Amino acid sequence: MSNGRRAAIHPAPDAGLDDMPEPLLSMLQSCRLCPRACGRNRLAGETGFCGAGALPRVALASLHHWEEPCISGARGSGTVFFSHCNLRCVFCQNHDISHGGSGKDLTVPELAQVFLRLAQKGAHNINLVTPAHFLPQVASAIRLAKDQGLAIPIVYNTNAYELPESLARLEGLVDVYLPDLKYHSERAAGRYSSARDYFAQATRAILEMHRQVGPARFSPDGLMTRGVLIRHLVLPGHADDSKRVLDWIRANLPRDTYVSVMSQYVPVHLAAKHPEINRRLTQDEYEEVLDHFDEIGLENGFMQDPSSQDSSFTPKFDLSGLEGLGQLGK
Ligand code: SF4
Repeated sequence: MSNGRRAAIHPAPDAGLDDMPEPLLSMLQSCRLCPRACGRNRLAGETGFCGAGALPRVALASLHHWEEPCISGARGSGTVFFSHCNLRCVFCQNHDISHGGSGKDLTVPELAQVFLRLAQKGAHNINLVTPAHFLPQVASAIRLAKDQGLAIPIVYNTNAYELPESLARLEGLVDVYLPDLKYHSERAAGRYSSARDYFAQATRAILEMHRQVGPARFSPDGLMTRGVLIRHLVLPGHADDSKRVLDWIRANLPRDTYVSVMSQYVPVHLAAKHPEINRRLTQDEYEEVLDHFDEIGLENGFMQDPSSQDSSFTPKFDLSGLEGLGQLGK
């Protein structure tokens, strides 16, 4: 585990960090980017709970077809999977990169190049998956890529364990926010993600996202071009917690807010240490949550087919899309 300090990574002078605006750079000097508030100097090679260093580390950049239809479209979403994570849930399907941290360290200009390559391949959007711990570097790379002609929407796909003041740095850069809202219960958030304050933090973060981008908008071919789409994964034995999550959305956001209620839970990684979630979700549990969605008057959503409970949907983190770029992370 990387809750402590690791060997220093001294970014090369051409890493693009020196070109970052001072307020962004200083966010990494005593890192309080997210609610963990570790205070580590990531520019000097120190790491905190997430394990992330100074350079953005990426494990895969590819066209992805299994997001919601308004994100994937016909040609695919240009997903950039970041390594490390500030939440590290025990049941994470991407644990090889979120917990294990495998990937390539990229400079900021290289990250911008990854975005441009995906756009050239026909991606409908750039979909930044779990970027919170690299927010300053990502903000700089988006600016650079836009300066070089990137013109497709930026989708910020996050676990939502974030701070509104950090997210404010993305205003005008991100078009679509795709936040999870994972738990209502402090106990569940503490047990499965070591973050008892998850609901309090994530809801503040989602309100900031909504403030920035407002109501959902779509292109003529049905792709989301602006707005917030909240994702909630129903956990086995936690239908009541899921209902409390939906209640918060109904009470605090417009009733036409888009919500994706997901059934794809698979008991992988460390789930076996928690017997109550060491099984698949039943169809009855899932339908109980969907019924509640209708009962409380939420209007727009996505649901999943039972076949989605298949770990073969997990991408292979084989560094595709990063050819000729970056250094393998240590
Ligand atoms: S981004 Fe990482 S180092 Fe910074 S506060 Fe969050 S967990 Fe700690």
